[in-house]
Amino acid sequence: MAYPAPSSAIATTIMRGNRSLDTKPERALRSALHAGGYRFRKHYLIDAAGLRVRPDIVFTRLRIAIFVDGCFWHGCPEHGAKPRANEAFWAAKFARNAARDRLVNERLNAAGWTVLRVWEHETTDESSARIELILNVDRQ
Ligand SMILES: [Zn+2]
Repeated sequence: MAYPAPSSAIATTIMRGNRSLDTKPERALRSALHAGGYRFRKHYLIDAAGLRVRPDIVFTRLRIAIFVDGCFWHGCPEHGAKPRANEAFWAAKFARNAARDRLVNERLNAAGWTVLRVWEHETTDESSARIELILNVDRQ
């Protein structure tokens, strides 16, 4: 975990809000894929049946969209936060995020895209191996 433990849910929100668009795991994953000879677009805009999305890594020709999901916002089973303060607020917030992720997946699938989500906590080896698997399946 790259961030110090926040003292409150509000501090967490502020910290997360200040994070750059490119997280460290994202950058590491892109570097690994690039070193492996893969070429892709970063935050390429896809219009998925009216829903505009910018996946973290996009293989345009193969129509593969990769998201590196943050453990906190996307409710990772291992690191998803369960803030004690303002519990209802956070529960609603996380439910909206989950619903948004499902909608994005559905729309992209409907538009002919393959979607893969990896967790920010996965090692670069783990996530790149999962991506390579999909890339190779799609080539057959
Ligand atoms: Zn996690």
